[in-house]
Amino acid sequence: MRYCKNCGLLAPFDADRCPQCGAPLPPEAPSAPSSARYTGEAPAEQPQEEVVPALSEWATLGTLLLFAIPVAGFILSLAWSFGFNTHPARKRLAQAWLIRTLVVGVVVALVCIVLALTSVARLTVTPYYYAY
Ligand SMILES: [Zn+2]
Repeated sequence: MRYCKNCGLLAPFDADRCPQCGAPLPPEAPSAPSSARYTGEAPAEQPQEEVVPALSEWATLGTLLLFAIPVAGFILSLAWSFGFNTHPARKRLAQAWLIRTLVVGVVVALVCIVLALTSVARLTVTPYYYAY
């Protein structure tokens, strides 16, 4: 197993790219003899390390500001995560933001559910609150 350098996901053995963020994974450890069998001829000229040009600081800042817009930013990050976007670095930024948004959304939803359940329980257990 290998870890993605981009997002840290544990990637399966046979994957060329990270299943989560699409980043090219480094070749498997050179000590593994099974992987050397397939690349019989010239392992040196494999174009494994695809270099992604970084966004400039202002482009990153502008992208994050766009994502911070409550509803439109979420839609934008969703769209850019799935390819309506030519810049690979911005696409990864969109994917990272999308994951963050989903995690925050789940946490907020759980907190709301817990609060709702506890308030309902309080109302049903102690009828005093109900009466006044
Ligand atoms: Zn990844």
